[in-house]
Amino acid sequence: RQFTGNAAHELRTPLALMQARLELFSAEHPDVPPETAEFLALLREQTERLTQMTKTLLEMSNLQAVPRDDCIELAPLADEIVTDLTPLAQKKQITLHQECEDIHIIGSDALIYRMLFNLVENAIKYNQPGGSVQITISRSNGKAILRVADTGCGIPDEYRTSIFEPFFRVDKSRSREMGGAGLGLALVREIAALHGGTVQDEPAEGAGTVFTVALPM
Ligand code: ADP
Repeated sequence: RQFTGNAAHELRTPLALMQARLELFSAEHPDVPPETAEFLALLREQTERLTQMTKTLLEMSNLQAVPRDDCIELAPLADEIVTDLTPLAQKKQITLHQECEDIHIIGSDALIYRMLFNLVENAIKYNQPGGSVQITISRSNGKAILRVADTGCGIPDEYRTSIFEPFFRVDKSRSREMGGAGLGLALVREIAALHGGTVQDEPAEGAGTVFTVALPM
């Protein structure tokens, strides 16, 4: 963890410098030939990807140190995530639905947001046009249950546990195309565990996947 954290930290500065210079160059040279514009766009896209990956690695190396004493109202948190992900959902022609009971838990507001965000983002990314995502928050046996169901491509049975391993992706080319590094679900599992909870996935009725996180209340 320490090595990952240090490495990620060291990568941040040169990456930020490269990104800033690229942005500046693109802004100062709006009339470059199409070939150069395409090349610049690719450089910007890939440095942005590296930056996101570095940020996630840094977060993952430091999770234990994040304070977990916020009182988190889960329904407004889900609202916020739906608002933040609506542009992506619209782009992919996915409808978002939610049904949330008034429940609160104690933990890290930022981490629980990140956990649910990653699940809903995946549910949109690995869905198909015209599909939907249903977020449900309820209580059962003294636990808060956060459920994200999608109508997407589903996850083959043999990969149901591997998907939570860092850098694991079922379809590498598809995930890469979507900008993923295979760290999203590893983070989800770590955040759930840090809060004394669990996460599991199962096939949805018909097609798609349901992710269920159970957290102590
Ligand atoms: P990525 O950055 O590739 O999205 P994740 O750790 O979030 O990484 O997910 C790991 C892999 O699990 C993904 O590459 C994808 O193959 C699969 N996956 C995750 N969520 C879903 C989902 N809702 N439906 C189908 N496959 C999924």
